[in-house]
Amino acid sequence: MLPEYFEFSLPTRVLYGIGVIDQLSEAVASYGRRRALLVTDAVLVQAGLAERVKAGFRQTAIEIACVYDQVPPNSTIRTVEDCAALGRVHGCDLIVGLGGGSVLDTAKVANVLMVKGGRVQEHMGAYLLGQTRLLPLFLIPTTAGTGSEVTKVAVIADPEHDVKLPFAETQFLPDLAILDPELTRSMPSKLTAATGMDALTHAIEAYVGKEWSPAADGLALQAIRLIRDNLLLACAQPDHLPARGAMLVASCLAGIAFSHSMVGMVHGISHALGGVYHIPHGLANALVLPEVMAYNLESRPDRYADIAEALGVVFPRPGAALGNLLRYGGLGFAVPWVRPLAAVDRWFRRKAAVAGIAYIRDLNRQLAHLTGMPLNLRDAGVSDGLAKLEQVADTAMTDGAMLYNPREPEREAVIRIVRTLYETTVAPLPVAATDLRPAGATAVTREFRNVFPDSETLYRVLGGFFERLKVDPQIGGPLRASRLCVQFAYENPAAVITIDARGDEVRIYRGAEFGGEPEVTMRMSADFAHAFWHGRVNLVSALTRRQVVAKGNMPKTLKLLPILKPAYALYPQYLAEIGMKEAA
Ligand code: NAD
Repeated sequence: MLPEYFEFSLPTRVLYGIGVIDQLSEAVASYGRRRALLVTDAVLVQAGLAERVKAGFRQTAIEIACVYDQVPPNSTIRTVEDCAALGRVHGCDLIVGLGGGSVLDTAKVANVLMVKGGRVQEHMGAYLLGQTRLLPLFLIPTTAGTGSEVTKVAVIADPEHDVKLPFAETQFLPDLAILDPELTRSMPSKLTAATGMDALTHAIEAYVGKEWSPAADGLALQAIRLIRDNLLLACAQPDHLPARGAMLVASCLAGIAFSHSMVGMVHGISHALGGVYHIPHGLANALVLPEVMAYNLESRPDRYADIAEALGVVFPRPGAALGNLLRYGGLGFAVPWVRPLAAVDRWFRRKAAVAGIAYIRDLNRQLAHLTGMPLNLRDAGVSDGLAKLEQVADTAMTDGAMLYNPREPEREAVIRIVRTLYETTVAPLPVAATDLRPAGATAVTREFRNVFPDSETLYRVLGGFFERLKVDPQIGGPLRASRLCVQFAYENPAAVITIDARGDEVRIYRGAEFGGEPEVTMRMSADFAHAFWHGRVNLVSALTRRQVVAKGNMPKTLKLLPILKPAYALYPQYLAEIGMKEAA
């Protein structure tokens, strides 16, 4: 089934990679020389992340002209105004946001003020900018939760009125979102837990919401799977970069999903808890999520069953299993006999949907065990006996997110949920080793830097290596048989080596010795070439990352595939032979 109408677009270029912050030259080259305002916060400056990002930009034409580092958690109107004023004073023409959702949202709204002027409140609303172009915006998340780096919304607190102001503009979608798991590593476990639950809430609310759409559905379910496999792991092992990376990607996918499908009643209530009681956004979502799932269940039982399955809560489907067994086992005539079992399958799906809610409750308790995350509003800091409950309910009922909830939100339900969350007493749940599932494999490769100090060394080492390939009994034959002419153009240090196998024997040319036309030219850094011959990098992904720029008939180089494996084995051996043991 499809919705009657949907839109999907993502103008943002998303870059993901461990350490990708150090490799920005190509990604930002098209912006030319710019003066950037870096928006961040004091904690991130203290943690060295701002310096790390500045160092990344030093390799580009973008100068960080000034730094606004005073964004508090749940940024305020005043913060945004001060930030924009600083950017204007320094004549900035690009904005870089580095931080959690509070910083990224500040960068978005400050961008509006820098271009349009006026007060923050004047810009509150949805799609008021029309065709106005804002300054180029790069967003670099340091938490894995809000997905703000790919959403067209921003939330800014108005402390005078205890509310959070919503903004929605297509122009908030940044030009570049840079996802580097290393920048999330310093998150304390409690923050990892809360922000991870924020991402899970985005995915779940996007999937069950009224504005669901097929592309967002796919992203939401994949985000749920990634969170299932990595959230506990990232909390238990903060330095586990593959788990950190998976959470960052999940948060981004969930962000894209909810930026299209919107969020619902969980957010309506947690925005109110944030505005009135200053409960951190992710924590509020974590606590409210299972309550609202239970409230909504009847309106979307099938979708909640899908969510349960994505969470790994898979119940048997005897009807479908037996039917398939008969149909594909050559007993198709018996399929009609098992059709009545479809009712049993539906019963199990419903049970799974309910169990999915229990899964979320247990997940919260496990996170509490691992990180000390509070499990009720008293422990989360509500110390007035819930005296502002009516205010919370009023604020929640006028929150825009309520419009998208699959079931009409009732005020009494909001009051009941908030009261339950205040009164409840649940114990943390110990985490078994089996709950810490292995994260999806993200290769963490040893980095090589400045292996070849000068061109002469490069010619000696790589040129010599190619000469060795020629005479190697396993490699020489296939190399000759390839009848290929490939030129490698190296940078840092500069060198050109051409391997020409088109004649009777393979010839290796250094620099200008080769005067012909190669069939394929591959441009890459010398360090990349070194890592390549170690077998540590993948050429296909290097092409995607523009670490290798190839010109000519690339598919022809497939003829070289048979030599790669033995060449990888030979390279470290050869380096050791020529006295480069430390690079071997
Ligand atoms: P946050 O940005 O408020 O940060 C919370 C704290 O964590 C801060 O003290 C910050 O300094 C610290 N921190 C951030 N990264 C860190 C790191 N790597 N290491 C150590 N400390 C780190 O938290 P958040 O949950 O990312 O963002 C919440 C805000 O985002 C709320 O205002 C919420 O309303 C908003 N939000 C926006 C969107 C959106 O799409 N625009 C979506 C969800 C939430």
